Amino acid sequence: MDTISWKAYGKINLGLDVLKKRDDGYHELRMIMQSVGVYDDIMIEKNGQPDEIRVETDAAVLKNEKGNLAYEAAKLLFDEFHIHDGITIHITKRIPIAGGMAGGSADCAATLQAVNRLFSLGLTKKELMKRGVKLGADVPYCILGGTALAEGIGEILTPLPAPPKAYVIIAKPPVSVSTAYVYGHIRPSEIKKRPDTDGLIQAIRRQDLGKMSSLMYNVMEDVTIPEYPVIDEIKQMLLSGGALNALMSGSGPTVFAVFNDAERARRAMETLTQAGITEQLYLTGFVNKTDLLKEEI
Ligand code: ATP
Repeated sequence: MDTISWKAYGKINLGLDVLKKRDDGYHELRMIMQSVGVYDDIMIEKNGQPDEIRVETDAAVLKNEKGNLAYEAAKLLFDEFHIHDGITIHITKRIPIAGGMAGGSADCAATLQAVNRLFSLGLTKKELMKRGVKLGADVPYCILGGTALAEGIGEILTPLPAPPKAYVIIAKPPVSVSTAYVYGHIRPSEIKKRPDTDGLIQAIRRQDLGKMSSLMYNVMEDVTIPEYPVIDEIKQMLLSGGALNALMSGSGPTVFAVFNDAERARRAMETLTQAGITEQLYLTGFVNKTDLLKEEI
């Protein structure tokens, strides 16, 4: 086998709570993570150049080696397993960059899994997750995929059942948000409203899409939206278009909206397109673990 392809799925947060800032500077989180059908394509080929890890991407802003999380992922496994082949990692980006959808972590997770398979390293998912957390707190979740409760700094994972089928709009405004800025400005002790994470989990378990949507909440909106009011404009347009709810994902600025009606979702897509308010816009759905496992066979 000389080439391998892997889909790197983006995530949204159905709930995001920041509990406290730890002494080591990291924030303690409680989030519900959900894979969605917006993915980067990762294709890795052996290139015949000994000891070379090359990254080629269609996104000019991304680095081609050190600093690209796909490069870091391959390097980690090459060093540990003394691999001296050369590879080229081709990345087709669709997940908004610096958008709050863990795109870098998704590429990292996909590369770890693809290199493991391409070089028959025989590592289990758990073993890959243990290595992945060294590269980013969201990497273990991106390896797991589907629906999960993420605690600690995001690395303590409890798999959850998938929510019911829904139509999901992903809308990225033409602004970039630094995750570091948002974490630097959030004051956990001053947060007035928090998500009912346990209620959300219960709604998912009961397959109650309406209740789940009504409980979706992200405490980071209070930091990001005042800086970028366009996020709220998009949310309001999606809500007026009949979304069950619309929320910022992660530290933003990407907004997602949940619909139970395909026609309404399509019309909301048209409204947003005509308003010219987004840089990237997708109509997709939740991706569950069963779908992901089928792809890996
Ligand atoms: P999170 O939701 O985990 O906070 P994000 O979605 O806001 O992440 P990413 O797209 O993951 O942000 O990227 C954050 C930074 O990581 C980017 O500014 C980019 O420079 C760097 N990065 C490194 N490798 C990648 C990659 N393969 N894809 C995207 N970003 C990458």
